[in-house]
Formats: sequence, structure tokens, C-alpha cells
Amino acid sequence: MSEAAHNLRELYQELILDHGKSPHNKHALAGHTHAALGHNPMCGDKFNVYVRLDAHHKIEDAAFEGQGCAISTASASMMTDMIKGKTAEEAQKLFDYFHALCTSENPPAPQDIDADDLDRLNALSGVRQFPIRVKCATLAWHTLQAALKSQDNASSENE
Ligand code: ZN
Repeated sequence: MSEAAHNLRELYQELILDHGKSPHNKHALAGHTHAALGHNPMCGDKFNVYVRLDAHHKIEDAAFEGQGCAISTASASMMTDMIKGKTAEEAQKLFDYFHALCTSENPPAPQDIDADDLDRLNALSGVRQFPIRVKCATLAWHTLQAALKSQDNASSENE
């Protein structure tokens, strides 16, 4: 592995460890407009995801609660950070790209994605080598999707 690739991998691992240990936005959300419960039975991860949309379909605030492994917790933490201030459609675009990253090599990145989001999604998509962990990494996103579609439950079981 080149030194640059090695450093990048260390940065990504640090990101996941940081968010896994001290997750952001891990609390109930008063006045949420959408919520869903997500469950990954393969690992035992279980999260509630909450979002509050404004009148223009923009995500004003996002949070999650529950129990999960370091990967699923880091993913939920980064996701709730990333989607704040974005529209539901933009959040969906991020998920589509993240899903592609988890399941294929070098998918094309959306043109308007910002560098921070790209780093975080790349860090999380390191789980691609471990298919069983992909279900952990995508759980919060599936749950967000269910919440925005106003379904009550989500699962990453059929990833
Ligand atoms: Zn897990």
C-alpha cells in the first residue's frame, strides 16, 4: 500500500472510532416530523432515527437513539451530521452514492457533493470488504429513508 493510501486509511479509521465512541446527535428530537425504527438482526443494531423537515422539505434537524456496534453508531452519527441543512432529495442522493460505494468499486461521485461528505462516506464504505458489516453501515440510512417515506420500520437485512 502507498503511504498516501495508508494515511488515508488511518484517517478513515480514526473518523469511525471517534464517531463510534462519541456519537453526534444521539438523543430524542422534540418536534420531529418524521421518525422510524431500524433493525439489523444480523448484528443486533437497533436505532430510532428522527428528522424535522421545514416547509420547504429541508432537514432542519436530525437525531438518533438506540444501541448498535461501533460501525452502525458511527454511520448514524455521521449521517445525522451530513443531512442537516440538506433537502430530503439531497439526502437521498447521498444515500444512493453511499450504497454504490458499499457495493461496487469506484462508482461515479455526484458532481455537487462536498469534500467533507465525500470523506465521511469513503470512511464508512471501507466496510465493503466485510459484507456483513455493510448492513451495519447502511442501517441508519435505510431507517432515514423509511422515516422520510413515513414507514415506521426499516431493516438492512436484505442489503
Ligand atoms: Zn452492527
